[in-house]
Amino acid sequence: MNPVGELLEMLPPPMRSNLQQADQRWQQLRQGQSRAIPQVVQESRTPLATVDWDVVVCGGTLGVIIGTALAQRGWRVLILERGILRGRDQEWNISRAELAVFVELGLLTEAQLQTAIASEFNPNRIQFLGGSAVWVKDVLNVGVDPVFLLDTLKTRFLAVGGHLQEQTTFSQVVVHPNGVAIQTNTTLITARLMLDVMGHFSPVVAQARNGQQPAGVCLVVGTCAQGLPHRDTGDLLVSLTPIQDHCQYFWEAFPARDGRTTYMFTYGDLHPQRPSLQKLFADYWQRLPEYQETDLANIQILRALFGMFPSYVDSPLNFPWARILPIGDSSGSQSPLSFGGFGALIRHLRRLDAGIHEALSADMLTCEALKGLQPYQPNLSATWLFQESMRAPGDRNLDPQQINQLLQIVFQEMAQLGDPVLKPFLQDIVQFPALTQTLFRISLRHPQLTPKILGHVGLGVLLKWFPHYINLGVYHELQRLIPLLAFASQRLSPQQRYVWHRRFDSWIYGSGLDILIASSLNVRRPLIASSHTK
Ligand SMILES: Cc1cc2nc3c(=O)[nH]c(=O)nc-3n(C[C@H](O)[C@H](O)[C@H](O)COP(=O)(O)OP(=O)(O)OC[C@H]3O[C@@H](n4cnc5c(N)ncnc54)[C@H](O)[C@@H]3O)c2cc1C
Repeated sequence: MNPVGELLEMLPPPMRSNLQQADQRWQQLRQGQSRAIPQVVQESRTPLATVDWDVVVCGGTLGVIIGTALAQRGWRVLILERGILRGRDQEWNISRAELAVFVELGLLTEAQLQTAIASEFNPNRIQFLGGSAVWVKDVLNVGVDPVFLLDTLKTRFLAVGGHLQEQTTFSQVVVHPNGVAIQTNTTLITARLMLDVMGHFSPVVAQARNGQQPAGVCLVVGTCAQGLPHRDTGDLLVSLTPIQDHCQYFWEAFPARDGRTTYMFTYGDLHPQRPSLQKLFADYWQRLPEYQETDLANIQILRALFGMFPSYVDSPLNFPWARILPIGDSSGSQSPLSFGGFGALIRHLRRLDAGIHEALSADMLTCEALKGLQPYQPNLSATWLFQESMRAPGDRNLDPQQINQLLQIVFQEMAQLGDPVLKPFLQDIVQFPALTQTLFRISLRHPQLTPKILGHVGLGVLLKWFPHYINLGVYHELQRLIPLLAFASQRLSPQQRYVWHRRFDSWIYGSGLDILIASSLNVRRPLIASSHTK
């Protein structure tokens, strides 16, 4: 049997069929086979006679986090979950400092947060074929146990008056002037606001994107396994090979509570020749012994892990309807470089908790008003260039060492500039001063790199990227005005204040400064918006 056949045989049948389904979806995407666009959202001009809930959260995985925050503020919140609301067995990696928001918002006690942390290690390595290692501390070095986390939040959610309907599937929604009517497999539910937390493949997102294809994908395969040589350190970004078959592979490895997690991932476009997830698994399996310096015979697989993460230039997503807001993976607000959607929500949790609360309080639930909760962020848009430059084109050959050499130089230079430059980047945050310093240093010390990058990504991509870079600088300056404007905005109506608060949030988060402000001011919630409860 071939290696991937052997690996697939080891997987429990439901996981094998999930992998085959994911591969089928990926095949349809890269072969341009259009799927029927679901029509699950409709609009009506007739007001609803009664509205039973303030917020209905569709999808419980990350939905329970925002659902609990809103229920704690006194809103009537219902979560609908298609299956049973339970976290997956595989840990989510994040940094300890980012997790503080759970305690800050009163979602977890300090003791519960400690129990949720299943593993912690330091440092993490970054290294590219032929280059020397850069080591970094306190980035993605904590593994959170999703089973405990979601179970504890579910208990908290119910304790603060939230309602949960499991095995209840969202099927469609009608948007009325005063609320939404959500049809599930069992019943019709009315609410002022619906949160779509149904993930990347939410039917509401598919309708809003209207057949638009992702501009890039990140393909990930891996395992959590026992029998690998024990190591107390992790790998954040490591390459072992040059570009082969139009793919540059990267590796990640994290010590986990019950073994060691290893991932192999690659960035791609929708070129029809891109490999299937099963082919990636075969490559992963073949290279794992070299990467972890062991024999396959020593390894006992606990779980196989895989994912196909689409990313759209037009992100975060704004829905064209009132009263529906995407949260979590459905919103496309995580970096195109990362598959850390849990981390992305946690970083934006203060903003979303305060912002949704303010939207409900001021009745700002129109399509235009909700756009303020998923605003344009130059910090996110500027990251596109990095995905393009870490991706081997599907339709032409590059120097096989091009991506390794580029990354080797960039990371060595960022390491020289120190943690304030290196760390935010590794946490999916791009800041204007750090990026500018890096660009200057690289163009002075490695002038040969610019024409190479230009040849790789193309002038068009660079020209499209440049306005986001300028906007990053503009947002960086605009956020300095916030204390003054926030003082002046106190005289405005709640609706006008809502609009200004969303602007302030977009400047802070859009310039990547949320990470600094949250940690240095040790702010209690919310960052900007009014803190009154209902
Ligand atoms: C291999 C792998 C490794 C990862 N590692 C990390 C990591 O280390 N750190 C990190 O931050 N992130 C990581 N992630 C990403 C993280 O798992 C996701 O970002 C997160 O699960 C997104 O949650 P979500 O609730 O937005 O979407 P999903 O996880 O897709 O959950 C959607 C939820 O909605 C429910 N649902 C779907 N349709 C319906 C419907 N019609 N009606 C009702 N309910 C519905 C589903 O049952 C599910 O509960 C990883 C992902 C993968 C695949």
